[in-house]
Amino acid sequence: MNFCKLETCNGKAWNNLYCEKHKYRLKKYGNFLLPSPQERFHLKYKIESNGCWIWLGGKNKSGYGIFSFSNISMMAHRYSYQIHKGEILTGMLICHSCDNRLCVNPLHLFMGTNKDNVIDMFNKKRENCRKGEKNGASKLSLSSVQEIKKLIALKKTRGLSKKYNISRATIYKIKHNILWAEVKI
Ligand SMILES: [Zn+2]
Ligand SMILES: [Zn+2]
Repeated sequence: MNFCKLETCNGKAWNNLYCEKHKYRLKKYGNFLLPSPQERFHLKYKIESNGCWIWLGGKNKSGYGIFSFSNISMMAHRYSYQIHKGEILTGMLICHSCDNRLCVNPLHLFMGTNKDNVIDMFNKKRENCRKGEKNGASKLSLSSVQEIKKLIALKKTRGLSKKYNISRATIYKIKHNILWAEVKI
């Protein structure tokens, strides 16, 4: 019996160089670090030609993706909304403009009220949120996020919130990788 080759680990390696845990991490993630919830999130969907990010993880009974991290389990599209677009206000729903419940692309998600949902159910005889820009669906496109990141990098943030109709808090969060962390410029 050997010990794991990783210096800081006391795990048993049996017939391997690394313990089970580190062997698994190396194989799955290419390094020994446990990925952050955000990194794991981005390994769990496939991008379709129509732009939808289709969740590959677990689903709930209603057909929404479920994402679990640090003893929390939440709907995957709501998690995606939070890490890309910000906090979800109490009681608000996160709706799909693409009508695909498994989609976690933040650009296809918008915050809607329960009222929108009820009206829509009545109209369409199914549970879904109302579509449309009116709901503040897609304030930012991917290209505008890239543009904003470029301007932040160049320290040209003057007029940014007016130009893109976003708050200073949103700019701060984009700057510090609290929102849209994976978007590279
Ligand atoms: Zn180890
Ligand atoms: Zn979609």
